[in-house]
Parts: sequence; structure tokens; C-alpha cells
Amino acid sequence: MSLTPEGVTLVSHPLIQHKLTIMREKETASSTFRNLLKEISLLLGYEVTRDLPLIDVEIETPVARTTSGKLAGRKLCIFSILRAGEGLAQGLLELIPSARVGHVGLYRDHKSLEAVEYYFKAPTHLDERFCLTVDPMLATGNSAIAALDRIKEAGAKDIRFLCLLAAPEGLKALREAHPDVPIYTAAIDEKLNEKGYIIPGLGDAGDRIFGTK
Ligand code: URA
Repeated sequence: MSLTPEGVTLVSHPLIQHKLTIMREKETASSTFRNLLKEISLLLGYEVTRDLPLIDVEIETPVARTTSGKLAGRKLCIFSILRAGEGLAQGLLELIPSARVGHVGLYRDHKSLEAVEYYFKAPTHLDERFCLTVDPMLATGNSAIAALDRIKEAGAKDIRFLCLLAAPEGLKALREAHPDVPIYTAAIDEKLNEKGYIIPGLGDAGDRIFGTK
């Protein structure tokens, strides 16, 4: 077990680390990058939902009546922080097909480096849903903080944040701003560079998912 900051779960399964290494390599094609991100999201999704509450329901199998567990409460909500969040959200939807999906669109103002919202759409009854907020890269933490501010403003209470890579700076900022939101990540990298990229990282996740560079 690695030493991780409080409230942060490092999901360091060998399969995830293997896939992540291939994603980091600069020669990896967009289609491979996308597929690996989807595969990792299934493995991360398994971990982040590990303690979801169950209720016993009565069912009838072809041979007997029994009680068995089903997820309790309203359908969970996956919040995708656009646009790179889509890369994780699509895989998670395969794992949890009944999930509702919310979207938060933010861009970074080049002068202030602050996150500015341009889109927000969420399902109803957020206060009764487990809200899994996803963005592959937790860099400065500004977008994640702004997204969680907005998601809470819309009513969400039970929130977790899931990313692929985190910088120590982003983890610290997000934990300070939203100490009630547990963070799950596949890796904690070394630092941010002067342009806000995670080092060693994997470059711009959005560009690599969508082949825009
Ligand atoms: N966003 C990215 O896509 N990559 C980084 O390294 C930092 C933020």
C-alpha cells in the first residue's frame, strides 16, 4: 500500500498500471488511448462503487424463491466534466448502464486561469443520488473545484471524484475546497509544469482521446 493523502484512494492494480503506461507513451494512437481509458474506467469504477449500499429484494429463480441484493436508492449519476470526462464516463456507463448522466462544461480563462462555466445539465433529485464526478486529469484542481461547487449548488450531497492521474497540487487544492468528497485516482504524478500540465503525465487528455492534435 502506498502512502496517500487523507481522503484519497490510489487504485494501483497491476492491470491499471500496465494500461496507464501504454496511455502515457506519446506514440500511442488515439483509438488505443480511448480503448485503454475505457478499460481502466471499468476497473476504477469497480473500486469507486465497492461500498454502495444494497437492499435485499425477493426474487424467484427458475428453481426457488430467495432474497438477494440490489443497489439501494435512486439510480446513481455520473457527472462528466467536459470534454475529457467523456472518456471515463462512457466506460462507466457500460459498467452501470442504468446510471443517469450529468455534464459540466468549463473552460480555463487564459488570463486568470480560473474555470468558467459554459454548460450545465443534470438529472433531477440529485440530493438522493450517489454522484460520481469524473475527469481523467486532476491538475491544478480549478476545474474540479468549480464543477463540484456547481454540482453541490444543484443539490448533490453524496459525491465522489474519480480521475486517472492526479498532481499533488490538485489533490491538495481539491481536498481543501471539498473535504467531504473522496477522491479516487490510478496514479499520483510528480508535479505540474508552468503551463499546468501534469509531469510526467500523458499530455492533453482531451486531445489524445479525440485526436485533436
Ligand atoms: N489537463 C490535461 O489534459 N493534461 C494535463 O497534463 C493537465 C490538465
